[in-house]
Amino acid sequence: MIPTPFDYIAAKSLDEAVALLGKHGEAAKILAGGHSLVPAMKLRLAQPQVLIDISRIKDLAYIREEGNSLRVGAMTTHYALESSKRVRVVSPLLAECAAAIGDVQVRNRGTIGGSVVHADPAADWPAAMIALRVEMVCAGAKGERVIKADDFFVDLLTTAIAPGEVLREIRIPLSQGRTGQSYKKVRHPASGFAVVGVAVNLGLDAAGKCANASIGVTGAAAKAFRAGGAEAALTGKPPDAAVAAAAAAKAADRQDMNSDLYASAEYRRHLVEVTARRAVLAAVGAAK
Ligand SMILES: Cc1cc2nc3c(=O)[nH]c(=O)nc-3n(C[C@H](O)[C@H](O)[C@H](O)COP(=O)(O)OP(=O)(O)OC[C@H]3O[C@@H](n4cnc5c(N)ncnc54)[C@H](O)[C@@H]3O)c2cc1C
Repeated sequence: MIPTPFDYIAAKSLDEAVALLGKHGEAAKILAGGHSLVPAMKLRLAQPQVLIDISRIKDLAYIREEGNSLRVGAMTTHYALESSKRVRVVSPLLAECAAAIGDVQVRNRGTIGGSVVHADPAADWPAAMIALRVEMVCAGAKGERVIKADDFFVDLLTTAIAPGEVLREIRIPLSQGRTGQSYKKVRHPASGFAVVGVAVNLGLDAAGKCANASIGVTGAAAKAFRAGGAEAALTGKPPDAAVAAAAAAKAADRQDMNSDLYASAEYRRHLVEVTARRAVLAAVGAAK
């Protein structure tokens, strides 16, 4: 449980962090809340020679509205999102998902940016990121680029962020009209991570039919994924219990499920269906 030796540098600005990443290359890693990286270092699963701490860069932790989107700095803690009254009003899925993470100590230190870049297959945020169709703003030596959530999660512990880039901001489009959101999760009893987690963001039309649906699933597969079959099964229909059940039955379509000592692939597929149905019905209830 003792990491290999490393140098520690506290970056004072985003530009300095990017420059340090450029200088040290693959030997370096960004340190945010440290709640995934430090345990990995103690287990020697990660052995960076240089840690670049971005937690003292004040202008990386913020929640603000700009036009029709919410801008969240990468260093914003899970707790800041859980406890923001404004977030609960304009993007309740963010607050609900944040509150489902670990325990209060984890939520006080862990950051949304660290979680999405780490891309743990059992992390909660990736499901919400996909359901909310967010954009990740990454800063690198050549400037900034924006990656859509659907393209961001590439594989187990792997994202589309390039070596030398720092995630700076997450942009969340704010839903208009009659919308409902929900995050439902089956917690691993020991770790609290998601055995399965489903995030739903849907809109109803004037007649009460589902005008649009966006559903992200985490915990179930090597990476979080969009439940496209379930979205299609909801859209254009009155989202009653039967329609929700039919849509949920398609939530794990064409996906290989993870299998481990706690949950077999078959059990996880079942949990995706049950959790998706509950999340859809909760989102419909919130929209009414
Ligand atoms: C006991 C415990 C229980 C937990 N339970 C849950 C849970 O139920 N659900 C859940 O989702 N998570 C859980 N977590 C994980 C927690 O949410 C972490 O905080 C999170 O996964 C990582 O965020 P961090 O800020 O700590 O990142 P760090 O650990 O500092 O970094 C993680 C990785 O991301 C990179 N990184 C960090 N920030 C950036 C950035 N801005 N740009 C580029 N790269 C960056 C780092 O280099 C590192 O590779 C738990 C953790 C612990 C210790």
